[in-house]
Amino acid sequence: MNTPQRFIYADNAATTPVSSAVLQAMLPYFCEQFGNPSAIYSAGVRAKRAVEQARADIAACLGAQPEEIFFTSGGSESDNWAIKGVARRLAEQGKKHLVTSKFEHHAVLHAMRALEQEGFSITYLQVHENGLVRPEELAAALRPDTALCSVMYANHEIGTIQPIAQLGAICRQRGVLFHTDAVQAVGQVEIDVQEQNIDLLSFTGHKLHGPKGCGGLYIRRGVALQNLIDGGGQEMGRRAGTENTAGIVGLAAAVAAACSNIAAKAEQVSALRNRLIDGLRDLPDVRLNGDLIHRLPGNVNVCFSGIDGEALALMLDLRGICASSGSACTTGSNQPSHVLLALGVPPALARGALRLTLSNQNTQEDVDEILRVLPDIIHQLRSMP
Ligand SMILES: *Cc1c(COP(=O)(O)O)cnc(C)c1O
Repeated sequence: MNTPQRFIYADNAATTPVSSAVLQAMLPYFCEQFGNPSAIYSAGVRAKRAVEQARADIAACLGAQPEEIFFTSGGSESDNWAIKGVARRLAEQGKKHLVTSKFEHHAVLHAMRALEQEGFSITYLQVHENGLVRPEELAAALRPDTALCSVMYANHEIGTIQPIAQLGAICRQRGVLFHTDAVQAVGQVEIDVQEQNIDLLSFTGHKLHGPKGCGGLYIRRGVALQNLIDGGGQEMGRRAGTENTAGIVGLAAAVAAACSNIAAKAEQVSALRNRLIDGLRDLPDVRLNGDLIHRLPGNVNVCFSGIDGEALALMLDLRGICASSGSACTTGSNQPSHVLLALGVPPALARGALRLTLSNQNTQEDVDEILRVLPDIIHQLRSMP
């Protein structure tokens, strides 16, 4: 194989490069402004000020108050904290039932599974063929002992966007806390935690051109949950550990940049996505997964019958194109994606999944190059014995 002439990154749902503006914002906090934000001397106070500015900036993007934003190590920790923290807290009041959906990220599903081991009972909402849960099914699932409902804002594999405000309203009305994993949604769609009746919301830096290992959890004022990380008194005594000042500054810069001009960027990226989808539709035996309207601007997810998605992703890599056969968490396991199975995609077809996720750094040339190389690869893979 010859070396690829170009590099096309079409896996933005897995992670994104740190933008140069974010990197510049972070740099002073490694070697110069390195003080411990808890220290009383001025180098500490300066770091503390940067952390608090970051908190305020992120809060402003989400319609929250600064004291409702807590920094964590990323989306997985935020999901675990929200779910386990609320469940264990409300179990004291005899509430040991939780509701979620079948196609959540593993950070949610495996946290739920861990709670099942502890004696909690979990209802898994059906995700219908369009990749959406139905509000009436959530309403029917709630019980007097339901503590929390967790439904993701936008799915990481198929990009479908749930009717979050409606789900939140149902929970609010029934006295059930509502958590949403918004890792894929922050910076892609307009979010207002007040208007959308959200009690807890998870986000992370590395999916929006910020650093890896730094994220946050919005916790509405008055919502009580157990700590997940005990130790020092950081984060108002609710999440211990010396603040990742550089990461937090980078996270805030990334969130603020992602949340500005959302509509214009969405229009640009969804035009690329639609061009890609239109081109893919011309290929034989291809199925598009997930609703086309209620969908993240950059997400394309298709299944090709009779091929292995992982082989397809490897062949694309040889042509300089980064794409995913599903979610990174299941790569190498050769199991069909639980998300696609939840939609009712037959397992054999689900193994032929390809996810292409675009950002505003992609170009029309990228899309056209993908569409140029795909037919050959598909044909080659299908003619293999
Ligand atoms: C990436 C992702 C996570 C995990 O976030 P990390 O910061 O990598 O721990 C959780 N939920 C969704 C929907 C994701 O896409």
